Parts: sequence; structure tokens; C-alpha cells
Amino acid sequence: MPTPQRTRIQTLLTAETTDDAPNPVTVSGWVKTVRSSGGVAFVQINDGSSLADLQIVVDANCPDYPLVDRLTTGCSLTAIGVLRESPGRGQRYEVAADSLTLLGDADPEEYPLQKKRHTLEFLRELAHLRPRTNTFGAVARVRNAMAFGIHQFFQQRGFLYVQTPIITASDAEGAGAMFRATTLDLNDLPTQGGQVDNNADFFGRPAFLTVSGQLEAEIFSQAMSDVYTFGPTFRAENSNTSRHLAEFWMVEPEVAFCDLDGLAQLAEDFLRSIFAHVLDNCSEDMAFFNRFYDKELITTLEDIANSDFERMTYTEAVNALQASGESFEFPVQWGSDLQSEHERYLTERKVGRPVIVTDYPSAIKAFYMRLNSRAPGDQGETVRAMDVLVPRIGEIIGGSQREERLDVLQTRMAEAGLDDAPYWWYLDLRRYGTTPHAGFGLGFERTVQFATGMQNIRDIIAFPRTPRSAEF
Ligand code: ATP
Ligand code: MN
Repeated sequence: MPTPQRTRIQTLLTAETTDDAPNPVTVSGWVKTVRSSGGVAFVQINDGSSLADLQIVVDANCPDYPLVDRLTTGCSLTAIGVLRESPGRGQRYEVAADSLTLLGDADPEEYPLQKKRHTLEFLRELAHLRPRTNTFGAVARVRNAMAFGIHQFFQQRGFLYVQTPIITASDAEGAGAMFRATTLDLNDLPTQGGQVDNNADFFGRPAFLTVSGQLEAEIFSQAMSDVYTFGPTFRAENSNTSRHLAEFWMVEPEVAFCDLDGLAQLAEDFLRSIFAHVLDNCSEDMAFFNRFYDKELITTLEDIANSDFERMTYTEAVNALQASGESFEFPVQWGSDLQSEHERYLTERKVGRPVIVTDYPSAIKAFYMRLNSRAPGDQGETVRAMDVLVPRIGEIIGGSQREERLDVLQTRMAEAGLDDAPYWWYLDLRRYGTTPHAGFGLGFERTVQFATGMQNIRDIIAFPRTPRSAEF
């Protein structure tokens, strides 16, 4: 039997008039609810194309009416019928079924997603079924729209999308603890002089999952000028927070002939544009998040899309924190890293919108960040680093202008205790046609988390990897 052409629920629900739909129309989906009254059954189905369900009306004249008794929450079906204006409340259109096919049933005694509302914690144990819930369907659609919006932003500006390796032999920047990638038999390790013989490993040397595509993106920026990556990164950090994953996606633009001011402007334009994109393209899902998760979500995102970000230096941030009169868990002094509580104070209380903090002490930042000349008032060396902080989340972007001067870079590496031999290719970029250049990393899940108002990053990625958790 040929499969009839299916029409997506979203297409039907947004049709101008019922005449725009095929007649008869075929729809398929999973049942949310079924209710009967007076010999007529009302079946709500969803196929993931929209938050709203489609109502299928099955009356006693339909030859498949006897099937109605077997329809339960979670079962899958195909209905063929006619799209019509719905006389009932709550929906504009409905489908009057001429035929109904039950594709797969879902035992109501066993199916875990019954009609009542479930907690997000409970649903995390059901990552294989949670995409069928309103919340996770909405997250998946918003995430999809944001990924597309990100590519669109860079493509429209002429950036080249490059794919950087996932397995790497270089500890990119000490950005975080790394996962080892090995084919060695851990129960029978080859040794050489009492040590593990890395020469016997797959690559003949230790290899890891990447923590950042930056160094390779820099290579491409030094030929193609404007590039970006968008890929998975891995950090074996044992931090059980609502903002950290062991596997997350990062967007990393890298721009030649660009300084920190240019980079900060790019970051601001980028964030404002993707928040505007999500408001424009996901209005139904955004209204849902606004209603159930954060009553100020849409106004907050609209404000961000329409106003300039605040800028301040790290030194100004430290002064503001010290003058705040707040009692922080971690005391603030020049030279210490800003903790989440400090970041949130700055963006939520001090300025009330996103803020770009620049020029951090070199001692707390990576070796490749460009060294500033000492400015009056500086209490130590600083680098051309920036973090973009947003309310509720704190850091969403980290970036810097890169050190393009060979001698300065080599000195910084020596100070950081790094052997420069494995970085020979990175140093070559400074030997042959070096340029001022800059780039940043945006945490994709943190950005979607911010845009949806969801509290926990584990509800933003379909299959979260966190300490002691890698089911599915
Ligand atoms: P944090 O201090 O918040 O742990 P970081 O300074 O280690 O982050 P960077 O190395 O600057 O992070 O990475 C760039 C961006 O990647 C961050 O601004 C953040 O949005 C995101 N990010 C970093 N670590 C994680 C993680 N473990 N899970 C999810 N996103 C992350
Ligand atoms: Mn950072």
C-alpha cells in the first residue's frame, strides 16, 4: 500500500482557510488525549511540528469508530478526513475523520507519560520519551531555530563555516579537564620503563576529545579571514551545576584583522540578532515559555534585541563589586576570577542588561590572549579578553584578541610552563604573515537556556552528559 502524502499539523493549523488544505487530508501523530461524548470522540494528536495539537473528530458514522476504544495517550495513528472550522472552543480547525488507522498502541498501564504534568527531574529519566511533551518539543524547536539563525547570521556576513577536529592531541588551552580518547586495553596496558607506552596507542601519542576548536579555527582565519565553527566540545569537569555539561556545543567565530573592540561589537550584534530571530520565528513556543517558565522572558529578550550592551573593564567591575555593599560568598579582589555570583550581580543588579567585561588579569586567562600595555591604575598585567554576561546565566561568551606577536607569545607560553614544541604550527601562524585577530566561544546550550527561560541546562540538550550520567 503506498503511503498517502501526510500533511504536517503545523501546516494545517496555520492555513489561511480550510480550502488551502488537501481534501481529503492525511495527518499522523501521537495521541495526547481522547475524550468521548454523545457518540463522538475528540482525539488530540501532535506530530512535533507545532506546540498546538490537532483535534480529530470521530463520529459514529465513521467506519473506524470502534477503534476509538483502543486509543490511549501515547499511541500513534493516521487519520484521513476533512479539515473544517472547529465549532468547539480552543482550536480554529479540526479534522473530521473518514478513516482512522491505529499504528502502534501504548499500554495505558505502562506508558509513563500520562496526561498530568510531570516534573523536569522525572522527565530527565525518560530522555527517550520526553520529546513528546510540550516543554521538550518546544525546546527542540527553539534549539533548531537558533542553530539555523546562528548559521544565517554568519553566512550573511560572509563568514566561512569550518569543521575542526573532535579528537585532538593538543590540550587546546587548558580550558577544562579533557577526556582521553584511547584504544589501549585498560586491563592490560602496554608499558615502557614502568610507564604506559603511549606509542602503542592508536595515534602513537596521547589523544583527547577537544575542549575548543579555537586553535584550528585560528589557522583558517589566517587564510580565509572570517570563519566560524559550530560543533561539540567536551569538558571532564566535575561540576554539578545547572550551567555545565560534559558535552556541549560551541559556536566559535575567529576573525582576522580584528581587535577586541571589533570582536565585542560582533558578539553584541550576534546575540541581539539571534534573540530577535527566535522571537520572530518561534512565537508560539516563546509564548509557552513565557507563560510557564518565566513571565518576563519575552520582554527581557525584546529589550536585549533592542538596546546596547554595557561595557566595562575588569578593573571597573572589581571596583563596582567592592563598592556594592553586597556580601558575596567569594570575596572580590583585583586578580581573582569573577565567580558566578559576581557575574550575576554585575548584569542583573548593577546594569540590568547584558554586559561585556574586558581586560582581565593575564594571570587568570589563557596564554594566547593578547597582552595589554600597562594602563594607569592597573594593578597588574592585563590581557585583551572579554566575557559577555547575561542575567540569570552569567557568562555566555568568552573570547579575546589573540597574541599575534611571536616573541610575546613565546614569553607567555614559557611563563605558563608550556612546552612550545607541540605548538609549532600555532607559532608558525605568527612567523608567516601574522595579523591582529580575535575570536570568541559561545556556549550554545547556555544561549538556548537563556532564550527559553529554562532553569537547567540538562533540559536544553536532548541527551545530557554529566558526571555519572550518560544513559541514552
Ligand atoms: P565557566 O567559567 O562558566 O565554566 P569557561 O570560562 O570555562 O566557563 P570558556 O572556556 O570561556 O568557558 O567557553 C566558552 C563558552 O562555552 C562559555 O562562555 C560558556 O557559554 C560555554 N561553556 C563553557 N563550559 C561549559 C560547560 N561545561 N557546559 C556548557 N557550556 C559551557
Ligand atoms: Mn570563559
